[in-house]
Amino acid sequence: MNKNIIYLDNAATTRTDPRVVNEMLKYFDILYGNPSSVYEFAGKSKEAIEKSRHIIAKSINAKDTEIYFTSGGTESDNWALRGTAKAYKDRGRHIITSKIEHKAILNTAKNIEDIGFEVSYIDVNEYGVLKLQGLKDSIRNDTILISVMMANNEVGTIEPYENIADIAKMKNIIFHTDAVQCYGHIPINVKKSGIDLLSASAHKFNGPKGIGFLYISDDIKKEPMMFGGGQENGMRSGTQNVPSIVGMAMAARIAHENIEKRMKTEKYLRDYFIDRVLREIPFARLNGDKELRLPGNVNFSFEYVNNTELIALLDSVGICASGGSACSASKNSPSHVLVAMGLTKNLANSAIRFTFSHNNTKNEIDYTVNCLKYFINNIRKS
Ligand SMILES: *Cc1c(COP(=O)(O)O)cnc(C)c1O
Repeated sequence: MNKNIIYLDNAATTRTDPRVVNEMLKYFDILYGNPSSVYEFAGKSKEAIEKSRHIIAKSINAKDTEIYFTSGGTESDNWALRGTAKAYKDRGRHIITSKIEHKAILNTAKNIEDIGFEVSYIDVNEYGVLKLQGLKDSIRNDTILISVMMANNEVGTIEPYENIADIAKMKNIIFHTDAVQCYGHIPINVKKSGIDLLSASAHKFNGPKGIGFLYISDDIKKEPMMFGGGQENGMRSGTQNVPSIVGMAMAARIAHENIEKRMKTEKYLRDYFIDRVLREIPFARLNGDKELRLPGNVNFSFEYVNNTELIALLDSVGICASGGSACSASKNSPSHVLVAMGLTKNLANSAIRFTFSHNNTKNEIDYTVNCLKYFINNIRKS
């Protein structure tokens, strides 16, 4: 089973930690009570949820009351944008985001435009860093929300989110950040950084799929995501996914206990990989910022190479990598992120992303670089 897989696509999803799976099992077949029921047996489920909420809240320096469980990053992003738009529509109908957001943001923004809001999409520079001056220039009297991702999922660039938060605060604008690629990978402090809303997803940090959370500051106005029985303080009705919530909290605890060590391991693999590729493969171009970069992200364009072909060849020897993001990889259009960074269509279509976990090894990197050299050389010769 998956014996020979070299998994270098941890930005798409991660392996669920066995300790997480083990913790979850109990909440399927032993403590299966409905957390909203009133007897003692169900109280155990309620208790598990609240304990999980506390673990998550503490991990970003938020209050327990500010954490809402969702079905993942996409739902959290939808809720952040649509909820804030609705809650603040009387103050204004203008929203600002960036050109390099995940589709969960971009397509939600489009939907909000359909219901009478205006959205400005801010440019990034050649490294994928948001242009702060462009952001400042786009602010209007009726701007209610700025949503900019903490780090990009394709090129790994960490955005100047604290500066963005400062700008938002000065103008009394709400600030949301999609931190799906960051939570559990780099330290986050929402209070220190001035973040009003933050999205995260468990399957991006060794938790289960289909569970995430939205942090909503107690200081801002909220709108419910779902209506029904009033769970999650009336904001997100529906019986909570107890096993997944418990699993996410366990994954969060594991991630944060070792976060510095994991970052160090991933950074080492990342920089070793980058150095070898740049030294040994001609016409390789690193996409994204070299320094302001997620510890586990590498993204290269290999000129004169079609990424679909290269990914298939890597797949044939068991190496899992992707072009762009998992979500846009299946479509044939070049990545909107790379296009926004100014890459030509050809360079964008030769981009390939490798994302590491702390469990990858130097041997795996060596093998991958050797395969890359061989395949790229063959493609270019043909
Ligand atoms: C994966 C991802 C999402 C979507 O999260 P899901 O839990 O898969 O819905 C949103 N934003 C970013 C930046 C992501 O990487």
